[in-house]
Amino acid sequence: MSLIENLRIIKESLPENVTLVAVSKTKPVEDIQILYNAGQLDFGENRVQELVSKYEVLPKNIRWHLIGHLQKNKVKYIAEFVQLIHSIDSKDLLNEVNKQAQKHGRIINCLLQIRIADEETKFGMEKEEAQLILNHCKTEYPFVNIIGLMGMATFTEDENQVRSEFRILKNYFDYFKAYYPGLKILSMGMSGDYEIAIEEGSNMVRVGSAIFGSRN
Ligand SMILES: *Cc1c(COP(=O)(O)O)cnc(C)c1O
Repeated sequence: MSLIENLRIIKESLPENVTLVAVSKTKPVEDIQILYNAGQLDFGENRVQELVSKYEVLPKNIRWHLIGHLQKNKVKYIAEFVQLIHSIDSKDLLNEVNKQAQKHGRIINCLLQIRIADEETKFGMEKEEAQLILNHCKTEYPFVNIIGLMGMATFTEDENQVRSEFRILKNYFDYFKAYYPGLKILSMGMSGDYEIAIEEGSNMVRVGSAIFGSRN
Protein backbone atom coordinates (compact mmCIF):
# COMPACT_ATOMS: atom_id res chain seq x y z
CA MET A 1 0.00 0.00 0.00
CA SER A 2 1.08 3.57 -0.55
CA LEU A 3 2.33 5.90 2.16
CA ILE A 4 -0.63 8.18 1.68
CA GLU A 5 -3.04 5.27 1.95
CA ASN A 6 -1.38 4.09 5.19
CA LEU A 7 -1.59 7.60 6.61
CA ARG A 8 -5.21 8.00 5.63
CA ILE A 9 -6.27 4.71 7.19
CA ILE A 10 -4.56 5.49 10.48
CA LYS A 11 -5.82 9.07 10.60
CA GLU A 12 -9.38 7.94 9.99
CA SER A 13 -9.14 5.49 12.88
CA LEU A 14 -8.02 8.15 15.37
CA PRO A 15 -10.45 10.05 17.57
CA GLU A 16 -10.54 13.77 16.82
CA ASN A 17 -8.60 14.76 19.94
CA VAL A 18 -5.59 12.55 19.12
CA THR A 19 -2.60 14.07 17.30
CA LEU A 20 -0.65 11.80 14.98
CA VAL A 21 3.12 12.24 14.93
CA ALA A 22 4.48 10.43 11.89
CA VAL A 23 7.79 8.93 12.97
CA SER A 24 10.07 9.28 9.96
CA LYS A 25 13.39 8.15 11.46
CA THR A 26 15.66 6.37 8.94
CA LYS A 27 13.21 7.21 6.14
CA PRO A 28 14.14 9.46 3.22
CA VAL A 29 13.03 13.06 2.85
CA GLU A 30 11.10 12.08 -0.27
CA ASP A 31 8.73 9.99 1.88
CA ILE A 32 8.22 12.87 4.27
CA GLN A 33 7.54 15.24 1.41
CA ILE A 34 4.84 12.91 0.06
CA LEU A 35 3.03 12.87 3.39
CA TYR A 36 3.54 16.60 3.83
CA ASN A 37 1.91 17.16 0.45
CA ALA A 38 -1.00 15.07 1.71
CA GLY A 39 -1.40 17.40 4.70
CA GLN A 40 0.66 15.76 7.46
CA LEU A 41 2.63 18.40 9.41
CA ASP A 42 3.81 16.61 12.56
CA PHE A 43 6.89 14.42 12.13
CA GLY A 44 9.05 12.70 14.75
CA GLU A 45 12.75 11.85 14.70
CA ASN A 46 14.96 10.30 17.34
CA ARG A 47 18.42 11.41 16.19
CA VAL A 48 19.51 15.03 16.30
CA GLN A 49 21.75 14.90 13.26
CA GLU A 50 19.10 13.29 11.11
CA LEU A 51 16.49 15.73 12.37
CA VAL A 52 18.65 18.74 11.53
CA SER A 53 19.51 17.56 8.04
CA LYS A 54 15.85 16.87 7.25
CA TYR A 55 14.77 20.20 8.74
CA GLU A 56 17.20 21.99 6.45
CA VAL A 57 15.79 20.64 3.20
CA LEU A 58 12.08 20.24 3.96
CA PRO A 59 9.31 22.89 4.22
CA LYS A 60 9.71 25.14 7.23
CA ASN A 61 6.18 24.76 8.51
CA ILE A 62 6.74 21.11 9.40
CA ARG A 63 6.39 20.60 13.16
CA TRP A 64 9.40 18.54 14.23
CA HIS A 65 9.15 16.34 17.32
CA LEU A 66 12.26 14.98 19.02
CA ILE A 67 11.12 11.64 20.43
CA GLY A 68 14.30 9.75 21.31
CA HIS A 69 16.87 10.02 24.04
CA LEU A 70 18.50 13.44 23.80
CA GLN A 71 22.08 14.16 24.82
CA LYS A 72 22.70 17.49 26.50
CA ASN A 73 25.46 18.53 24.13
CA LYS A 74 23.10 18.19 21.16
CA VAL A 75 20.26 20.40 22.36
CA LYS A 76 21.89 23.44 20.76
CA TYR A 77 21.39 22.03 17.27
CA ILE A 78 17.61 21.79 17.52
CA ALA A 79 16.79 24.64 19.91
CA GLU A 80 16.01 27.07 17.12
CA PHE A 81 13.21 25.10 15.51
CA VAL A 82 12.03 22.04 17.45
CA GLN A 83 8.27 21.98 18.06
CA LEU A 84 8.17 19.54 20.98
CA ILE A 85 10.76 17.50 22.86
CA HIS A 86 9.05 14.32 24.10
CA SER A 87 12.04 12.84 25.87
CA ILE A 88 13.03 14.98 28.84
CA ASP A 89 14.41 12.36 31.21
CA SER A 90 16.47 14.41 33.68
CA LYS A 91 16.75 17.78 35.38
CA ASP A 92 20.11 18.29 33.74
CA LEU A 93 18.65 17.95 30.29
CA LEU A 94 15.81 20.31 31.12
CA ASN A 95 18.34 22.83 32.36
CA GLU A 96 20.20 22.69 29.08
CA VAL A 97 17.00 23.03 27.05
CA ASN A 98 16.13 26.08 29.14
CA LYS A 99 19.55 27.59 28.49
CA GLN A 100 19.44 27.00 24.75
CA ALA A 101 15.85 28.25 24.50
CA GLN A 102 16.86 31.50 26.16
CA LYS A 103 19.81 31.83 23.82
CA HIS A 104 17.50 31.47 20.84
CA GLY A 105 14.87 33.80 22.28
CA ARG A 106 12.09 31.25 22.44
CA ILE A 107 10.19 29.02 24.79
CA ILE A 108 10.52 25.32 24.01
CA ASN A 109 7.65 22.90 24.60
CA CYS A 110 8.64 19.72 26.42
CA LEU A 111 7.15 16.52 27.76
CA LEU A 112 8.56 14.67 30.75
CA GLN A 113 9.34 11.08 29.83
CA ILE A 114 8.25 8.69 32.55
CA ARG A 115 9.65 5.19 32.78
CA ILE A 116 6.70 2.83 32.80
CA ALA A 117 8.22 -0.15 30.98
CA ASP A 118 9.57 -3.19 32.65
CA GLU A 119 12.86 -2.83 30.73
CA GLU A 120 16.13 -1.33 31.88
CA THR A 121 16.89 -0.16 28.37
CA LYS A 122 14.11 2.40 28.30
CA PHE A 123 14.77 5.92 29.45
CA GLY A 124 12.59 8.07 31.64
CA MET A 125 12.19 9.41 35.13
CA GLU A 126 10.20 8.23 38.11
CA LYS A 127 6.99 9.95 39.13
CA GLU A 128 8.70 11.56 42.12
CA GLU A 129 11.32 13.26 39.98
CA ALA A 130 8.65 14.54 37.62
CA GLN A 131 6.77 15.92 40.62
CA LEU A 132 9.86 17.80 41.83
CA ILE A 133 10.49 19.26 38.39
CA LEU A 134 6.88 20.37 38.02
CA ASN A 135 6.99 22.02 41.44
CA HIS A 136 9.83 24.28 40.37
CA CYS A 137 9.56 24.57 36.62
CA LYS A 138 8.05 28.07 36.48
CA THR A 139 10.95 29.59 38.41
CA GLU A 140 13.81 27.31 37.40
CA TYR A 141 13.05 26.85 33.71
CA PRO A 142 11.29 30.00 32.49
CA PHE A 143 12.16 29.26 28.84
CA VAL A 144 10.66 25.79 28.95
CA ASN A 145 6.98 25.01 28.77
CA ILE A 146 6.19 21.57 30.17
CA ILE A 147 2.97 20.60 28.45
CA GLY A 148 2.63 16.92 29.22
CA LEU A 149 4.03 13.45 29.72
CA MET A 150 5.42 10.73 27.46
CA GLY A 151 5.94 7.04 28.04
CA MET A 152 6.78 3.84 26.23
CA ALA A 153 5.28 0.52 27.21
CA THR A 154 7.25 -2.70 27.40
CA PHE A 155 7.87 -4.41 24.07
CA THR A 156 5.79 -7.53 24.65
CA GLU A 157 2.97 -9.58 23.20
CA ASP A 158 1.19 -9.32 26.53
CA GLU A 159 -1.54 -6.77 25.86
CA ASN A 160 -2.59 -6.71 29.48
CA GLN A 161 0.84 -5.60 30.57
CA VAL A 162 0.97 -2.89 27.90
CA ARG A 163 -2.48 -1.70 28.91
CA SER A 164 -1.67 -1.58 32.58
CA GLU A 165 1.53 0.39 31.94
CA PHE A 166 -0.37 2.95 29.88
CA ARG A 167 -3.01 3.10 32.59
CA ILE A 168 -0.36 3.91 35.18
CA LEU A 169 0.90 6.79 33.07
CA LYS A 170 -2.63 8.10 32.53
CA ASN A 171 -3.12 8.07 36.30
CA TYR A 172 0.04 10.12 36.82
CA PHE A 173 -1.11 12.50 34.09
CA ASP A 174 -4.49 13.05 35.73
CA TYR A 175 -2.89 13.46 39.14
CA PHE A 176 -0.37 16.08 37.92
CA LYS A 177 -2.94 17.85 35.78
CA ALA A 178 -5.02 18.66 38.82
CA TYR A 179 -2.12 20.82 40.05
CA TYR A 180 -0.71 21.94 36.71
CA PRO A 181 -3.53 22.64 34.26
CA GLY A 182 -0.87 23.49 31.64
CA LEU A 183 -0.35 19.77 31.13
CA LYS A 184 -2.33 18.95 28.01
CA ILE A 185 -0.49 16.23 26.14
CA LEU A 186 -0.19 12.56 26.95
CA SER A 187 2.16 11.06 24.35
CA MET A 188 1.84 7.29 24.34
CA GLY A 189 1.38 4.65 21.69
CA MET A 190 3.44 3.46 18.71
CA SER A 191 2.62 1.29 15.69
CA GLY A 192 2.15 -1.86 17.74
CA ASP A 193 0.18 -0.43 20.62
CA TYR A 194 -1.39 2.91 19.73
CA GLU A 195 -4.93 1.53 19.75
CA ILE A 196 -4.51 0.33 23.32
CA ALA A 197 -2.84 3.63 24.24
CA ILE A 198 -5.81 5.60 22.93
CA GLU A 199 -8.24 3.43 24.84
CA GLU A 200 -6.18 4.25 27.92
CA GLY A 201 -6.30 8.00 27.35
CA SER A 202 -3.46 8.94 25.00
CA ASN A 203 -3.95 12.10 22.95
CA MET A 204 -0.72 11.94 20.96
CA VAL A 205 0.54 8.83 19.17
CA ARG A 206 3.96 8.37 17.60
CA VAL A 207 3.55 6.02 14.64
CA GLY A 208 6.42 5.02 12.37
CA SER A 209 6.47 1.59 10.74
CA ALA A 210 2.68 1.36 10.33
CA ILE A 211 2.92 4.36 8.00
CA PHE A 212 6.37 4.12 6.42
CA GLY A 213 6.90 0.37 6.49
CA SER A 214 9.43 -1.50 8.58
CA ARG A 215 12.93 -0.13 9.21
CA ASN A 216 16.16 -2.03 8.60
C1 LIG B 1 10.75 4.60 16.72
C2 LIG B 1 9.90 5.22 17.76
C3 LIG B 1 8.50 5.26 17.63
C4 LIG B 1 7.74 4.67 16.46
O1 LIG B 1 7.91 3.29 16.42
P1 LIG B 1 7.02 2.36 15.42
O2 LIG B 1 6.97 1.07 16.13
O3 LIG B 1 7.79 2.30 14.15
O4 LIG B 1 5.72 3.01 15.26
C5 LIG B 1 7.76 5.89 18.63
N1 LIG B 1 8.36 6.44 19.69
C6 LIG B 1 9.70 6.42 19.87
C7 LIG B 1 10.28 7.05 21.08
C8 LIG B 1 10.51 5.81 18.92
O5 LIG B 1 11.83 5.79 19.10
